[in-house]
Amino acid sequence: MRRRILKLIPIFLFACKGIRSTCKLQSDLTEEQKKGIIQTAQMLDYNNTQLITYTSFKKPKEGELMPFVIQNGDEDYQIILTRYQGKIYAFGSLCPYDLETDLSEGICFGDKLYCPKHGCQFDITNGMVEGPPSIDNLPKFGVKENEDSIEVYAPLIVPKKIIPQYHFRDYNDQRKVIIYGGGAAAFACLTTLREFGYTGELSYISNDNYMPYDKSKMSKRIKATKPEDFFFRKDKWYQAIAIDAHLGRKISYVNNKYNNTYVELDDSNKIAYDTILIATGTDPVHPPIKGIENQTVFYFNSLDSHQQLKEKLKTINDLSIIGINTMSLEVAQTIRQEYPNIKINIIDPNDESQFQVQYGPELTNLVLDLHVEKGISIYENIKIKKFEKDSIVFKGKKKLKSDAVILFPSTVSPKTEFAEVSDHQFEFDNAGRVKVDYFQRTDIKRIFAAGSCAHTYYYTNGTGHIGDQWQACYNQGMTAAYNMLALNVPWHQIPFTYTEQFGKVLQQTSSWPQFDEVHIEGDLKKWDFIIYYGMNDFVVGAVGTPSKQNRIAIVNEGIRCKNIPFMSDLKNGKYSTKDIEAAVRKIKKSGCYKSTLYKFRYDVVPEYNLWTFRDNMSTFYFPYDNAEISAAPKMKGDE
Ligand SMILES: Cc1cc2nc3c(=O)[nH]c(=O)nc-3n(C[C@H](O)[C@H](O)[C@H](O)COP(=O)(O)OP(=O)(O)OC[C@H]3O[C@@H](n4cnc5c(N)ncnc54)[C@H](O)[C@@H]3O)c2cc1C
Repeated sequence: MRRRILKLIPIFLFACKGIRSTCKLQSDLTEEQKKGIIQTAQMLDYNNTQLITYTSFKKPKEGELMPFVIQNGDEDYQIILTRYQGKIYAFGSLCPYDLETDLSEGICFGDKLYCPKHGCQFDITNGMVEGPPSIDNLPKFGVKENEDSIEVYAPLIVPKKIIPQYHFRDYNDQRKVIIYGGGAAAFACLTTLREFGYTGELSYISNDNYMPYDKSKMSKRIKATKPEDFFFRKDKWYQAIAIDAHLGRKISYVNNKYNNTYVELDDSNKIAYDTILIATGTDPVHPPIKGIENQTVFYFNSLDSHQQLKEKLKTINDLSIIGINTMSLEVAQTIRQEYPNIKINIIDPNDESQFQVQYGPELTNLVLDLHVEKGISIYENIKIKKFEKDSIVFKGKKKLKSDAVILFPSTVSPKTEFAEVSDHQFEFDNAGRVKVDYFQRTDIKRIFAAGSCAHTYYYTNGTGHIGDQWQACYNQGMTAAYNMLALNVPWHQIPFTYTEQFGKVLQQTSSWPQFDEVHIEGDLKKWDFIIYYGMNDFVVGAVGTPSKQNRIAIVNEGIRCKNIPFMSDLKNGKYSTKDIEAAVRKIKKSGCYKSTLYKFRYDVVPEYNLWTFRDNMSTFYFPYDNAEISAAPKMKGDE
């Protein structure tokens, strides 16, 4: 009895707190409503958890994200109430990616919620993550709508995020998949296969020494980090879902002969396969610089180099960063903040830096001015003559003190050595990327490729996607998994990326090899803007700051639904971002797709079938109603 009373008191206080912060004040409530609160402070036993009922007297409108505070143990915990197609839903309000960002400031398109900072997407009806960088689901709560209130059922202790359910290995399942490479695309494929019911053998081969980690976090934190801080999942998780990991290894031979397909590793191990994903990423192209051996040079593209740089930064006074791009600027700002005593010089030897080529002078000046204001020195269009032991010498004799160098070359080379050890000739683009179709299939049957080593196509207009963007690579890895399982889903996401520069967040939708005009809405100086990039009057993408309106999410949806005005109409004021939002909402083409795929996953093909020949694929499943697919790129294997 004593136990029960003790528990009821805090719950009652809590129910009041939630109501006070989001709904009517206690004093505004009728006697009947007050009684309602007390009645809801009951507990139900459910799987050894106590379920608590909270009541809200305010109701969200269709698509509105209404924050509502409940109790999590002794802490306040905000959830979101929303309405979709008339029904009420309740889910956690913290973005699982950083457990900080408040999702109630995001935006909903139908059943899909966009995170206001990272652009992760969630299905509000079941909390499922639809799009990275989050890899976890949102906690979802039971709700009941009454005539004048909403009841929310929550456990006494609420998990902040939910790890999706994965299928365990079934040793009767003889199918065999090999994932080659260890980054975003590889992890996404591995995790999606197990999430979508694949119970066969899953071998993972990477030349890295770690299980997959999130590279995009490496430029945002250096000082107080351990390798584990960047891992997607703990080792135990991989053991639980039976991943056969071969770390520090490469494939040295591929036998693709029908009925006897296997790879041989550089330790002579042989692994049989039915299908392979190539996701080996890219490598920076090392520029020829005289005296490069005189300086400690970091390429900063692996966790080992990240941790080695961390050690070096403890001992140096002058750091040179070579190359101006989003990543190098992000690294510079992180080091500036974490190691304020180190003098940082950023040097770009090109006539126009990679950043300027990509974003134009308006954004470049804004971001570089911010860096200069924070004490970083910038040298643009300065040719380097040589590296000396403690300095960098420019052409024209000027010298800068330098104890270490981080190199961000403007060109990268796809890691496709795989092709050299395979019996088959892959089809490549001019830069050496493996060409794949909308389904991430190479022209060699049974072999898929995804991520930055692959040349993929946007379904919206059939143009190639060759951007080195984390989210795009992740989504392509997921797409490869769907198609290994013969779910026949094209890569259909538009990349959404973000960077943080001295507390200012910049978001980007899509990617573009070139642009010929820009249109700016808002105020650059106030860091409240969106810049549209256009080519031949077509909008090819946009960059902007997070806003109440969630402009970049709107444009992302607009591009995905092929509902974007011409640049000229944006420029002459005929349309604005608001009109794009209205148009996207009107066509109702947006939505989530994962739960629909869940329903399909065992039906589409018999369970024993891992993949289907392209010849048999006359139709494919596309997750959105009314979506049009641009003509598919022709592959050699189609002929
Ligand atoms: C520091 C840093 C910060 C970044 N920040 C961002 C960001 O904020 N936003 C963003 O969009 N992008 C960012 N990027 C880029 C992003 O990380 C890449 O686009 C993405 O990781 C590419 O994914 P991937 O799966 O194609 O390849 P990778 O992640 O590069 O993984 C390739 C893997 O394959 C392994 N491998 C390579 N060759 C072989 C071989 N022969 N045998 C076996 N294994 C091999 C490698 O060890 C590596 O593990 C950042 C990159 C870095 C380095």
